[in-house]
Amino acid sequence: MVCMHGHGLPYPPGGPTTTDRLLEGAIDFHHHGYPEVSFEMLTRMEDNDELAVARGAGMAGIVLKSHMWPTVGRAYHLKNQVPGIEVIPSIVLNHSVGGFNPIAVESAARQGAKVMFMPTWSAAHDMERGGMSKYLRKYIKKASDLNPEKGLRLTNEKGKVKAEVRECVSIASEYNMTVCSGHVSPQEAIALAQDSKDYGVDSIVFSHPDSHSVGATREEIRDMVQLDGYCEFCALGTLPAFQRLKPSEALEIIEEIRPERAILTTDYFFEWAPPASETLRMLIGTFLDLGMSEEDIRLMVRNNPAKMLGWDDNKLNEIEKTRSEILQSSDND
Ligand SMILES: [Zn+2]
Repeated sequence: MVCMHGHGLPYPPGGPTTTDRLLEGAIDFHHHGYPEVSFEMLTRMEDNDELAVARGAGMAGIVLKSHMWPTVGRAYHLKNQVPGIEVIPSIVLNHSVGGFNPIAVESAARQGAKVMFMPTWSAAHDMERGGMSKYLRKYIKKASDLNPEKGLRLTNEKGKVKAEVRECVSIASEYNMTVCSGHVSPQEAIALAQDSKDYGVDSIVFSHPDSHSVGATREEIRDMVQLDGYCEFCALGTLPAFQRLKPSEALEIIEEIRPERAILTTDYFFEWAPPASETLRMLIGTFLDLGMSEEDIRLMVRNNPAKMLGWDDNKLNEIEKTRSEILQSSDND
């Protein structure tokens, strides 16, 4: 177990570097924890230890995501266990919550969920591409029954967003939730981004367009950004087992769409992977090495996610204050 009071991992020789400074106030908008789909799917450490490491690194918060269940209950208890870092709960509209289920969305919102992900393994597009839905079979026997006919789509045959999806989005908007596209097709994500403005949703996060599950083209990324979407880049894609996106290629896309429209997240659950704050740190350092400015990186890890959550500088300062008080009091223990 790491330091109980959460100083996190030690700094490099000589103390915090620019990379460390940029991690301060960062928000991981796509963080998986434990348990995920089953107890067999292990993570590097338990959520409370993981959070203590992130807090020790100065991070301001994480959006806790589960492919199965709304993370409202977990977030509620984790807040008390590891104060000084925000855990923002979310809901994913998969079959496990009834798909496009307005009651599930409203209940999650009333228990603090601030992010709504469109279907992931339940998306017809994911099933067609053999994405998360295929991977799920390793852990859930019944997942072998999944096929595109049973999959969820945001749009009808005419390419229009379905009424039940609109209903979920309008509830999300009522509770100021951010909507992320999950594993639906780029065409569905674009249709959603076009429609969501009618419900007061300013921006949709285009979830990891580079992933195997989504497989978007550069053109589709451009279209989403033109519709005020944010484009997500995950540490997952750079891990040894994946290497689906070269950092230099990511940088090229970011320079084109501008960092104002990009976020950096983690999005993984493996016992062999470092804690999420370390891979976020790795991405920050990599982009610094490639010549990206500190200001641009800060937008992607701190300002853009904070804006989506409706957090201003006062809120971030308040989190920072609580964090330093906790770390100081643990020094005196
Ligand atoms: Zn994810």
